[in-house]
Amino acid sequence: MIARSQQVVETADWRAQLRDAYRSPAQLLADLGIAADAVALAPDSPFPFRVTRAFAARMRPGDVDDALLRQVLPLSVEDEDVAGYSADPLQETSHYADGALIRKYQGRALLMVTGACAIHCRYCFRREFPYGESVGNAALSAALGALAADTSLHEVILSGGDPLVLDDAQLASLVTRLDALPHVRRLRIHSRLPVVLPARITSRLLDVLATARMNTALVIHANHAQELDSEVRAALAALKRAGVTLLNQAVLLRGVNDDAMTLAALCETLFEAGVLPYYVHVLDRVRGTAHFDAGDLRAAHIEQALRARLPGYLVPRFVREVPGADSKLPLSAL
Ligand SMILES: *Cc1c(COP(=O)(O)O)cnc(C)c1O
Ligand code: SF4
Repeated sequence: MIARSQQVVETADWRAQLRDAYRSPAQLLADLGIAADAVALAPDSPFPFRVTRAFAARMRPGDVDDALLRQVLPLSVEDEDVAGYSADPLQETSHYADGALIRKYQGRALLMVTGACAIHCRYCFRREFPYGESVGNAALSAALGALAADTSLHEVILSGGDPLVLDDAQLASLVTRLDALPHVRRLRIHSRLPVVLPARITSRLLDVLATARMNTALVIHANHAQELDSEVRAALAALKRAGVTLLNQAVLLRGVNDDAMTLAALCETLFEAGVLPYYVHVLDRVRGTAHFDAGDLRAAHIEQALRARLPGYLVPRFVREVPGADSKLPLSAL
């Protein structure tokens, strides 16, 4: 009984935090003690502003160049047209024909379970996506049918949006349905919530992951060591205890993490939190994100510097997504 009422409190807590996110850059700047005229903000963007208070609490007050603030602040430069940047550079909309399932690579498929996120990262390649915040039951059932029919698929990757925006009951039911498909050996979840909303890691969620038949991996998304505070580390430790393999993907972002020292600090901090660095994605050339581009040459130099500085197992793979390729491509091969 006690455990149950505690569960209710936990769930109410993360849901309330999700609703209570900042929706106005002016409000966040005011709370950080930054003058409104210190930055040129974009007027109303179709990709609205959204930042959890847990994430904002790790920003340095008074610093307009803060690495966490830069990731979420809608700047007026987003509205500039830059050659080579388009709405869908990965041509993902063309893979979206099956509804909620995207099959690009052998043996694994992405299951898009929601379009919603707890935070809106300005560099995100999904900022221009046509889909709404929710994926309908019909699309999800069709996707599960396609998964059941294709026995070459050994891994299902829950993606979105952010799949952990679904509540525990929805995730439990999804895991049960996937567990019933014998050819699906691995469940992978790509989520930024352990970082931006660590309260999301409830005991019920841990239970669902710990008791799944499939091997489970969770790929978190942190770009800077400053994102990993004690609350995040506690959530990650709990996931680890539940038997989940923890990996991180980052995006190389100018003015946020585009130097070897910053990325080395991220990789070492991740390892201390039980997470192995997996990928560093160079920026996808999505309209409105050009100001984050560090350049491929700089990226290659940073990767080389990381190899010299870190043990091999802490060096993330620097990759780019190229439409039509059979995997993400190492930057060094391009
Ligand atoms: C990135 C991605 C994957 C996973 O690729 P890995 O290299 O296995 O991490 C799978 N499907 C799609 C559509 C992807 O974009
Ligand atoms: S999909 Fe990931 S990177 Fe994109 S806005 Fe959502 S949390 Fe940020």
